[in-house]
Amino acid sequence: MAKIVRSSAVTANVLMPGVRMRCPACRANGNFEPILQYDAATQTGEILGLRRCPNPTCSALVFFVRDRAGALQSFPAERIDFDTKDIPQGVHDAFEEAITCHAEQCFVAAAIIVTDFRPSR
Ligand SMILES: [Zn+2]
Repeated sequence: MAKIVRSSAVTANVLMPGVRMRCPACRANGNFEPILQYDAATQTGEILGLRRCPNPTCSALVFFVRDRAGALQSFPAERIDFDTKDIPQGVHDAFEEAITCHAEQCFVAAAIIVTDFRPSR
């Protein structure tokens, strides 16, 4: 059964002045900026909205939800830092997929990818 959520519009950056996170696309840390005039505040205390990566070469969009306790969740999810420089393409692709699984809290899938990785010859 679908959950009905009721909300009201609040000026962006008032209840949620900063969305600081690591970009899921470019992995740069930054204060994600609003792209719309309003966020949504639910009757149960969550704040929802859209933000954009401050890196001008990226500008990735993320949808965020901050719960009543202040925990921030983004879609796509924030990824752990991972330096891709000087890594063979096959290893890079496997780790990239594992990191995406980890970010989406699919921990078993992330572990299987890492433990099952065999570099191609
Ligand atoms: Zn970015």
